[in-house]
Amino acid sequence: MAHVVVIGAGLGGLPTAYELRQLLPSQHRVTLISDQPRFTFIPGLVRVALDIDPLDRFQLDLAPLAKRHGVELIHGKVTALDPPANRITLDRGETLDYDYVAIATGPSFAFNAIPGLGPHGGYTHSICSPAHAQDARTAWLQFLENPGALVVGAAPGAGCFGPAYEFVLMAEQILRQKGLRDRVTLTLITPEPYAGHLGVSNVKNAQKLTEALLHKRGVEVIANATITAISPNAITLDDGRSIPQQYAMILPAFRGASFIQTTPGLGNQKGFIPVLPTYQHPDFPSVYALGVGVSLAQPEQFRVPIGLPKSGQMTEAMGMAVAHNIAVRLGAIQKPLQTPTLEAICFAEFGDTGILYVAAPVLPDPTTGKRRYSYAVQGKWVVWGKALFEQYFMTKMRLGAAVPWYERLGLRMMFGVELVKPIAALPQEAPVSA
Ligand SMILES: Cc1cc2nc3c(=O)[nH]c(=O)nc-3n(C[C@H](O)[C@H](O)[C@H](O)COP(=O)(O)OP(=O)(O)OC[C@H]3O[C@@H](n4cnc5c(N)ncnc54)[C@H](O)[C@@H]3O)c2cc1C
Repeated sequence: MAHVVVIGAGLGGLPTAYELRQLLPSQHRVTLISDQPRFTFIPGLVRVALDIDPLDRFQLDLAPLAKRHGVELIHGKVTALDPPANRITLDRGETLDYDYVAIATGPSFAFNAIPGLGPHGGYTHSICSPAHAQDARTAWLQFLENPGALVVGAAPGAGCFGPAYEFVLMAEQILRQKGLRDRVTLTLITPEPYAGHLGVSNVKNAQKLTEALLHKRGVEVIANATITAISPNAITLDDGRSIPQQYAMILPAFRGASFIQTTPGLGNQKGFIPVLPTYQHPDFPSVYALGVGVSLAQPEQFRVPIGLPKSGQMTEAMGMAVAHNIAVRLGAIQKPLQTPTLEAICFAEFGDTGILYVAAPVLPDPTTGKRRYSYAVQGKWVVWGKALFEQYFMTKMRLGAAVPWYERLGLRMMFGVELVKPIAALPQEAPVSA
């Protein structure tokens, strides 16, 4: 009997635990450790912060789900990992031994990188966690009482940009609907080389469509921007400019969870975990990783450093490969090992329209520098697509399904996208990240 532990019950961890449960015979234990009692569909937090939907809509209680779907749940925070001993320590001091562990702990936030950044003692809001989004909503409702300068953006080193575009364009629509638009200036400050880059270069039409939409909605864009300081009334850039703000939502750079940063040899200096194509740690064979916590280097250098986005769909694909590969290792299935393709589809909601960004794959071929394909398309249907996807995702999390065959077929038929592909055996593997 083996014991497989998944740490983190977010967009990556919960589907991975479900997939492991489906692939492994019942004599193997699957345990899910979560520091939160509820699963949160993080992409919904933009709508929570803008008071469009309540947080409840995007959350599910983990305890009944785990019970129903045969997963053991531990509510607690992992504070230490001892990979040579295959041992996890929780915040209550309790320890847990594993045969395999899949780390899906998502991001921690580098608010301390810029003076005045963040909701904890700083002067900007965040929508990266449920608590941040709720605080951002309270402040947004106050801002609507006395609107002025609205600034949205991302810090240098950030790798997640889509939510900033969604926030600024959805806010613009709300302000128009409330008759407040002429009282508000809107500015987008981003380290990206151009608006619509989103951490991925040369996606066909992405720059053109995104810039045109921002221009049409009267959002001033400052790209290639390095925010150096934030005060209660202004955001300072490295070129000396000071942008007035009465409400600012700035996405921070991400780091890995703190126990990854403090476990010798587990992560890089930012706390992201290096992985082989199997998403197994190069030095600790019983450790796998997926999602935002994985180290995936941005292949290009820009004036201002930016990270590579790790989208929800890329995260799920990593989780499916991890579950499959652990099941292969345990002899539960006899198939080649798998690696995620990192072909990404991102539905971005911009109020009364949206843009679908597709990059297949996100990382271009290292020798040719090319992708299979990439494109961006705009339309109202993208907003409906995103809402439909959210409902679908929440339903499958309720039902205990990870990525069922019909979803894989749909992705292939509609977008030409595959989630995973077979790989050669481990001894030939070179790290995909460092
Ligand atoms: C505002 C916002 C909007 C987004 N919108 C989109 C979108 O529209 N489309 C898209 O594809 N992607 C989107 N993303 C990205 C997407 O949310 C991430 O790719 C995805 O959540 C990553 O999954 P994850 O499992 O790595 O992390 P998460 O989903 O963040 O889950 C990590 C979980 O681990 C838990 N955890 C952390 N540390 C510990 C610990 N020590 N012990 C136990 N548990 C722990 C956390 O509490 C959390 O529940 C968005 C991101 C943000 C911030």
